[in-house]
Amino acid sequence: MIYLFSICLGLILGSFFNVLIWRIPREESILWPPSHCPSCGNAIKPWENIPVISFLFLRGKCSNCKKNISWVYPFIELMTAICSFIICFFLFKQDISNLSWFSFPPLILQYLFLLLMLPVAVIDIKHYIIPDRFTLPLIVCGFLISFLPGDITPIQSLAGILLGGGTLYLIGWIGTAILKKGDAMGFGDVKLMAATGAIFGAKISLMSIVFGAFFGSVIGLTLIACKKLDPDHHIPFGPFLGAGIWLSIMAGDLILKTYCTYIEKITSF
Ligand SMILES: [Zn+2]
Repeated sequence: MIYLFSICLGLILGSFFNVLIWRIPREESILWPPSHCPSCGNAIKPWENIPVISFLFLRGKCSNCKKNISWVYPFIELMTAICSFIICFFLFKQDISNLSWFSFPPLILQYLFLLLMLPVAVIDIKHYIIPDRFTLPLIVCGFLISFLPGDITPIQSLAGILLGGGTLYLIGWIGTAILKKGDAMGFGDVKLMAATGAIFGAKISLMSIVFGAFFGSVIGLTLIACKKLDPDHHIPFGPFLGAGIWLSIMAGDLILKTYCTYIEKITSF
């Protein structure tokens, strides 16, 4: 039941994420006006707003002006649903009927944070920003919710904010000094890692930076090698950090343990 519910909730949240992806970089209200066609401004009727299904039913065209609707919309909805299912599978695998009411706000925040990595990545790819409207509320909520009994104490949350954000800031500062050009790292990335630390603690946020940097260098260098990207081009770091956060949550401890065992094996003679 919870898995079916997680897929439906993911579809609905994905539909809302499409609104965020369009409106937040344009500094528009996310509540008003109601959804409308970007081409003709025609208000979208409730039955045309059902995630994925309406897109198929309308054959990817606006019911009024017949202009094509981007496939990105149903794609985001579908991806959010898949991610929602994966999170529930990993995060809520313990029997939630045994949990106290206090355990739910941290779990819900972790769930929303992981899903929000999707619109954050899309906005960063399209506009090269990670808006404060995502990161600042997450930092504040993460810190406040750490006062409830749960995995993360307020001290751990605060340490996560300072170490997660601080480490990335330092890396950016060194990068700028070495490359001697503009800002190598945006402040949006720094705030994203502070939010990760606030919600999950310092360990996850520091692991995410390592994994994110690894993904970023591998894919960045591959693209440069394939001449798909010139070395001076700015690469958005948000999607890689998002992937790093996901990997840290899902398999961080396992990777760390395997790595340490391996190091011990090759260095013991
Ligand atoms: Zn239209």
